[in-house]
Amino acid sequence: YYNENTILYFDGEYAKAAEAKIDLYGQSLHYGYAVFEGIRAYKTEKGEVKIFKAEEHFDRFKRSCELIHIPYKYNNEELIKACYKVLELNNMEEAYIRPLVFCPPNMTLKAASESHILICAWEWGAYLGEKLLRVMTSSYQRPNPKAFQIESKSAGLYINSILASQEAKEKGYDEALLLDMNGNVAEGPGANIFFEKNGKLYTPPRGHILPGITRATVIELCHELGIPLEEKLFTLDELKQAESVFYCGTAAEIIGWDSLDGQTFSKPFSESLGKVLQQAYKARVLEKEFKREAKVA
Ligand code: PMP
Repeated sequence: YYNENTILYFDGEYAKAAEAKIDLYGQSLHYGYAVFEGIRAYKTEKGEVKIFKAEEHFDRFKRSCELIHIPYKYNNEELIKACYKVLELNNMEEAYIRPLVFCPPNMTLKAASESHILICAWEWGAYLGEKLLRVMTSSYQRPNPKAFQIESKSAGLYINSILASQEAKEKGYDEALLLDMNGNVAEGPGANIFFEKNGKLYTPPRGHILPGITRATVIELCHELGIPLEEKLFTLDELKQAESVFYCGTAAEIIGWDSLDGQTFSKPFSESLGKVLQQAYKARVLEKEFKREAKVA
């Protein structure tokens, strides 16, 4: 992720990643009390480096901090500028950008009264790879929204994602699917889910999921392309009747599923609405024009 020359942004300054220091006696390290974002920069068709949906990511970043009472004293403009500067200082064009807000020394369980920020970046290919995913239903549920602010992209929450991913890997699958506390389909460890049935797409509504920026982009693209879409709760049984399924997220982009718990889907991903959206998404981030082929999926 970094080497001796890597530069990051740290509390308003640009510093060498290998030399930056943080205190070890803090709530972020000990209790997972920190907030992060995951953003991507792309080299557009015109050859410019552009951070995709930067404003939306930093709006969510701020809200994530507010939801768990971490002071947020930054504004989008300065942070977006810092992101571009980090890319430039590291000679990066296409990169994954990771802002993190964390807290100064304090071992109590009281809300923080101050915070620090860092922004780093590294080159990262499609997080879940390019191959269709063999997914397993996790034995872990997504966290109960009455036990946590689940719309906050909080560091500690990601232990749930690590447990689910590790379980899937140990059982020989590529990725996990997590249900919510009521047994409805929620999301993946680091991605939102959509499925196709009878020419229409479905995705869970907000409530038990991270409101993904990619999810919002997919919904936007559906409106633009005239693809019918419904946000509704659905069960695992309904998902198993789907014709096709995909995950979406900033790191993963759009990636189709091969199977769920060993059961494949009736439509090849290459002929699905997910494939159309995968191409449309790629065009959107690269600021390319996208025309859907005349064929109605
Ligand atoms: N759900 C979870 C649990 C995630 O970690 C992510 C990745 N941030 C997503 C969904 C997708 O969100 P986004 O499209 O904003 O990356």
